[in-house]
Amino acid sequence: MKIGILGGTFDPPHTGHLKIALTVQAALDLDEVLLLPANQNPLKQRCSSASSEHRLAMVQTMISKHESLSLSDMEITRGGMSYTVDTLGELSMIRQAEFWFIMGTDGLATIGEWKGVPRLAKMCRLAIVLRPPITQENALTMVPEVFQDKCDFVQMDPMEVSSTEIRDRIARRKPVTDLVTPEVLRYIQEKRLYTDS
Ligand code: ATP
Repeated sequence: MKIGILGGTFDPPHTGHLKIALTVQAALDLDEVLLLPANQNPLKQRCSSASSEHRLAMVQTMISKHESLSLSDMEITRGGMSYTVDTLGELSMIRQAEFWFIMGTDGLATIGEWKGVPRLAKMCRLAIVLRPPITQENALTMVPEVFQDKCDFVQMDPMEVSSTEIRDRIARRKPVTDLVTPEVLRYIQEKRLYTDS
């Protein structure tokens, strides 16, 4: 069993998240990609705008049509700071699988600051998503020594979308069609999320 892990705040989940999950799943022939909303990202100063319950519900509705994608509330249930090393430790106890932690090259810039990188490298490989002009060689210069032989690279055309942009657009009453799925849009509208962020 091969499982990919896509961590994030998902505040809200967007089409970039969906594309990265599906692209990596297909490229590395993974059986499943698990989307794991963080309770609190140790490297992000701001708290999430939407509650954990809303973020979980939005991810669930976004992935509902995709059999190979699933949602885990593990980090939210655990509470506190969401350290990837703790999450992989917990996951390896309950799932018999090989794990790939999915990340864009933006995330690579901070991986040196993560907690327990040597222990993390014993539990997973990295699925690194390259966007032009970043090459495999450029990306490897940012990868800690312990992960040098544990990286798989996936090419993906960039999608210029971020949760920050979506929150800003909604607060300014601008459309976000195509940046989120229709199901997520309906949820945001019904619950009146992000209108005053
Ligand atoms: P924010 O704008 O609030 O910082 P975000 O849009 O960057 O949020 P996160 O939830 O922090 O989203 O991202 C989770 C994961 O998804 C990270 O690994 C990140 O690299 C990846 N990701 C985010 N946006 C995109 C995108 N447009 N295309 C591909 N991957 C993305």
